[in-house]
Amino acid sequence: MSDQRKSVTTDKWILDHRGTKNPVDPFKPYAWLVEKERQPSGKAEDTGTIFLTNMECPFHCLMCDLWKNTTDRPVPVGAIPAQIEWALEQMPQVKHLKLYNSGSFFDDRAIPVADYPKIASLLTGFETVIIESHPKFIDGSCLQFRNMLHSDLQVAIGLETVHPEILRKLNKHVTIDNFSDSVKFLTRNGIRSRAFILLRPPYLTEAEGIVWAQKSIDFAFSAGVECCIVIPVRAGNGAMDELMKSGDFHLPKIKSLESVLEYGINLNAGRVFADVWDLGLFSTCPDCLEQRINRINAMNLNQEIVFREKCSCETMEI
Ligand code: SF4
Ligand SMILES: [Zn+2]
Repeated sequence: MSDQRKSVTTDKWILDHRGTKNPVDPFKPYAWLVEKERQPSGKAEDTGTIFLTNMECPFHCLMCDLWKNTTDRPVPVGAIPAQIEWALEQMPQVKHLKLYNSGSFFDDRAIPVADYPKIASLLTGFETVIIESHPKFIDGSCLQFRNMLHSDLQVAIGLETVHPEILRKLNKHVTIDNFSDSVKFLTRNGIRSRAFILLRPPYLTEAEGIVWAQKSIDFAFSAGVECCIVIPVRAGNGAMDELMKSGDFHLPKIKSLESVLEYGINLNAGRVFADVWDLGLFSTCPDCLEQRINRINAMNLNQEIVFREKCSCETMEI
């Protein structure tokens, strides 16, 4: 672990280093996309994601940049259904849909409970609906929403890391027991869950980053999640850039992401995906970047290890 560990991860310190938010419209999602995702059945099927414009999350996690596209106040009743309706009009038909709201779907200051019936009716016809939530909001309201849905509900939860000290420093106000209790609650009620896991959060070396991501995958599956998503940590939210300057945070390497993905797939405990957003950030070698991106995409889709040619950049490393 890096020696330069200062206790800077308070709300105030994180907020003080932020830039400005992007202008957003409470009646339009700030983005949407469609991508193939491997299903538990083994098929790779089109999955849509709607990035809902919503009120800022009440937590201020050290690594989070989702606040950039949020509002300062709750959005009015009716705004979230209007956003979903708008996005579904633009989007090709898909079987599975993620509704990501830059916070917790079950936080009633984010998604008004009064909107649940309209949202549920808009989602008729989807096989799977995936939403995200902090463990703190996983309670009876999940069941209330699930009971209105005609689709399978899956809840994505940020475990982030099982490293106790780093998890505390991430300022997420969660413990691994909170995570595990939430997953067990969902499982008991027939709701699947998936875990977001960070690769190399601040204060860890590259090797430690790999080991703790692997331990986090082990923990998430043992708690009962059906799927893990490994996210290489980025800068860009102000606080992380500051930690980069001080040497407390370094971008993970793309080959570490490959190693963790291979580890997770080899466990055969459930689906394991690598987040593929902007992977060029994690490589300095133009000779193998494309091959590595293709390899990660293929492993995501097929859940099988793909052979990799060695690149000269590896022989140059000690
Ligand atoms: S709980 Fe999630 S959305 Fe909220 S600040 Fe943390 S990472 Fe961001
Ligand atoms: Zn290379």
